[in-house]
Parts: sequence; structure tokens; C-alpha cells
Amino acid sequence: MDAVDVIRTKRDRRELTDEQIGWVIRAYTAGAVADEQMSALAMAILLNGMNRREINTWTDAMIGTGERMDFAVLDRPTADKHSTGGVGDKITLPLAPLVASCGAAVPQLSGRGLGHTGGTLDKLESIPGWRAQLSNEEMFAVLRDVGAVVCAAGDGLAPADKKLYALRDVTGTVESIPLIASSIMSKKIAEGTGALVLDVKVGSGAFMKDLEQARTLAEMMVALGADHGVRTVALLTDMDTPLGLTAGNALEVRESVEVLAGGGPADVVELTLALAREMLAAAGIAGADPAKKLADGSAMDAWRRMIRAQGGNPDASLPTAREQHIVTAPASGVLTRLDALAVGVAAWRLGAGRARKEDPVQAGAGVELHAKPGDRIMAGAPLLTLHTDTPERFEAALEALSDAYDIGGALADAALSDTASSDAASPNAPSPNAPSDASASVRSSRPLILDRITN
Ligand code: URA
Repeated sequence: MDAVDVIRTKRDRRELTDEQIGWVIRAYTAGAVADEQMSALAMAILLNGMNRREINTWTDAMIGTGERMDFAVLDRPTADKHSTGGVGDKITLPLAPLVASCGAAVPQLSGRGLGHTGGTLDKLESIPGWRAQLSNEEMFAVLRDVGAVVCAAGDGLAPADKKLYALRDVTGTVESIPLIASSIMSKKIAEGTGALVLDVKVGSGAFMKDLEQARTLAEMMVALGADHGVRTVALLTDMDTPLGLTAGNALEVRESVEVLAGGGPADVVELTLALAREMLAAAGIAGADPAKKLADGSAMDAWRRMIRAQGGNPDASLPTAREQHIVTAPASGVLTRLDALAVGVAAWRLGAGRARKEDPVQAGAGVELHAKPGDRIMAGAPLLTLHTDTPERFEAALEALSDAYDIGGALADAALSDTASSDAASPNAPSPNAPSDASASVRSSRPLILDRITN
């Protein structure tokens, strides 16, 4: 085999053979195919695509470079969730213990944030004492005792993807649907879950900016799951505006605990429950009602045990940032847009995220929202609070937010003349952080759940 032949095949829009794919993935992982050759191939794939057979073989080849986990020893079915990444997406935190409290085992092998999307491990690490790094034995023990574990994926799972993803990140080849699908699914299949629910984000704060692209990605991942014996369902969900009222590590943990305590923002609760129901159905667990488990404290119990089992103290105070800056509404009206990407970039610049893998993150940094699209807001009322330990970062964060929102628009007149009824039918549960006189919910924008894809 010759790497240049493989590159030429895809460059010239021909199909790669199974042998070519198996060889190039193995040789790249072993260092026999150079980074520049693999990046040329990745670019040819980005431009010319792969068919279902090629994607399947590519995924198998990546799985084959590492270990495969097996949860058959557990006494209950496994279900996992993967989000393609968004702003304020803290759903894993309440979801994993919630689904465990309903009878499934949830092995949630997660990552860290890079760029404007947050990482689950960074969020949980803001809890004093909590450890992301577990051995396989420790991971199984937590799963057996608690039913849910959230920890760092070991280096042994699909190592080809680790190397290839880092290369794609610096060669403009992340945005290839076949490469994204095989990257995500190789890790999930190697992890050994029996059921998988994918939360494919769509909108400004997501990889996939439009619904059609997201649907194609979801269909490809659902098909890959089915072809590998993993019962897989995908929800396409809105990421034009941040989820919930916080983006940032400790801020998001606090909001997740509110959800586990039976409160929290309506969109976070809605998505948590929708994903929980999908996970339970895919795992073949009937009869458990996740809404009841949130309300009766069972999910909170599982959360507390999960945090303790990984060295954390669920009762410890969470870190807060040393400095705050409040952005006020420049006019009265209805907030018609609050852009997820802008908020994500602002949180990142405030210190909640990292530019390079080795950078530290600030636990208390981030952005708190006091209104969501559809909410009525008064001029001068707080719209956003920025949090950081390093106030010199405010300027760059404010720059990211310079075109982040619109107030007024077509909704304003109708909304302002309809205060009484709309306040009563508020779609957003009040956050303890939201100044009660600053805004009133009028209506939400597009629905949170846009589509559901099954095999
Ligand atoms: N997440 C992954 O794990 N892989 C990709 O290619 C994109 C997002």
C-alpha cells in the first residue's frame, strides 16, 4: 500500500477500498503515514465525501486501533448520550444520575472543552475534590454502585481518532460529515454502550449551522450505530441561543443542581427529560418516569452518590469568580435574539474555556443570562452578567458580545400589549439569578427539539 495512491483515489472522487481504509488508519496510528499525508486525505474526504460502506469501514478501522469495553457484567442495560457540543450544554450533569435513578447504567465517557463549547469534565472539576481520571476498575465500580459515571475517556479507546481529530483541528478538516460521524461513533461503539442517544445541535453555537446538514449527520450516525449493534436515536435540538441561563463551569454545575432539585430553567428541564425518555426506551426500560424521579429526589440522590464516588463533595460551595461586569439592556422591548456563538466565545474569553488543550480553565468564569429570546426586558435592566477572575478579559468578552442580541422586532408590540397573559404562561421557570423585575417571559423562539431520527 502507498499513502499517495490512497490520497489520489479520493482526490479523483473514487471509492476507497476496505483494504485501503484499513491500511491507512493502521499505518497513520503507527506513525508510518505522515501527518501531511493524512491531512491531504482528510481534505480529499471533506471535499469528495465517503459512501456508507466507506464510512462503516473507516469507523471499524478506528475502533480496531484500540480496546473495546464490555458492560455485559453489569446487572442492568447501559445507555449513553452524546452531544455534538453547544453553549450552556450542561445536560449530561443532571441526565446521567437521572437515568441511573430510573434503572439504567450510564457510562458517560466525556471530554474537555476546546474553543467556545464547554466540556463536561471541566464543569464537574469545579466541584472541590472531584476526579475525572478513573482507571477502568474504578469506572466499573462507580457504575456498579451508583449506576452512573462521568469520567475521562481513556487513551485506549479509538486512539486513531485522537490523533486524527487533533490533525483535523489544525488543518480545516473538522467540518466533514463522514469524518465527524465516524469520529464520534468509533468512540461510542468502542465504549460498549448498548443504547445511545445523540443530541445533534443545530444553530449558530453548533458545528452544524443548518437543519439539513444536521439531519444528514444524525442519519449517518444512527445508521453507524445500527450497523454496529448499538440501538441509536438522534434528536436534533436548537443551538441558536444558549441552553439555560448559564455558560461556564461552576455556573453550569449550579444550574444543573437546580434542575436536580426540581427547579431550573424550562429548556434545560425539557431537554433533560426528553433525552432521559429516549435513553430509557433505547435501553428497553419501561415504566420509569424521569419527571417523577426529578421531583421525588431520586435523581439528586444518585447525583450526590456519583459525585462522592469520584472524590467530590456535593455539599461544598462552588467557586465564584472574583469580578463581575453587568451588561444592561439598551432599550425596552422583547429580546428577539441572543446568539449562542457570541455568548460561548465571551465565556471562553472570560476564562471558562481554553485555546490549547494544555491551558487551565477558570472554574468561576462565564456568562449568566438574565433573559432569553421571547422575554420582555426593560431598558437599563441587567441582560447578562460576565464573571471572571481576570478583569482584563472583560474587554475581549464585550467585543464578542457586540452584536449578540436584538431587542424589539416584530414580537415587541404584540408581546408588550399582552403582558398579563404571557407572564402567566411563562415558558421559562424563574432562575434565582434572574432579577424578577428585569424581564418577563413572553414566548420562546423556535422549538427546542427540531426533529427525531431513528433507523
Ligand atoms: N466531536 C468528535 O468527537 N469528533 C468530531 O469530529 C467532531 C466532534
